[in-house]
Amino acid sequence: MSDEEAHDAFRMIRWSDTKGEPYCPRCGCVAVYAYKTRKLWRCQGCTHQFSVTSGTIFASRKRPVRDYLLAIAIFANGAKGHSALQLSRDLDCQYKTAFVLAHKLREAIGSASNGKIVSGEVEVDGAYFGGYVKPANYKENRRDRRLSFNQSGKRRVVVIMRERHGCTLPFVFKSEDASSRRVASLRWTASSTSCRARFTPTRRSASTGARS
Ligand SMILES: [Zn+2]
Repeated sequence: MSDEEAHDAFRMIRWSDTKGEPYCPRCGCVAVYAYKTRKLWRCQGCTHQFSVTSGTIFASRKRPVRDYLLAIAIFANGAKGHSALQLSRDLDCQYKTAFVLAHKLREAIGSASNGKIVSGEVEVDGAYFGGYVKPANYKENRRDRRLSFNQSGKRRVVVIMRERHGCTLPFVFKSEDASSRRVASLRWTASSTSCRARFTPTRRSASTGARS
């Protein structure tokens, strides 16, 4: 994909409601001038000058638009999550660049799911992540890692609520009790929802990744 094609693809995605026709991100005015020499537009209403990434998480970008499209595709296709190191190798950029980009994508996904409600047939499942305590080398020095005072306190319960053929809502809790209470309260509020809960969290360290 050339830079030109990537720019057009990004434009179609960003202004999908006007079929790729740019409008001012500040005042919403559709009357805009296009610059001949640069890929910029200027609003006739408020004279605001904007590019295809202005007002998005990719504003003030330093890399070509194609790389951001690639990053979105790689990130969205990674069912088990995507590490910043791997992303930096895929995009041929620094680790820090990939790290910031991955965080921006996560934040965008998180803000998109804010205030969403699942209804109808909803499936709930959870798992433990993180907080792995490495056992001591010698058997006589080992402690019972099941006891709370021998744990790091970093383990979290991640619960996913998924509507059949609909959206997915993730939640993070400190304990299984807290997650069960929250899920139970949600079931009360949506009495018409048929909730299929299979909540038997399995212990998995963060390094093994999630299995859906
Ligand atoms: Zn404007």
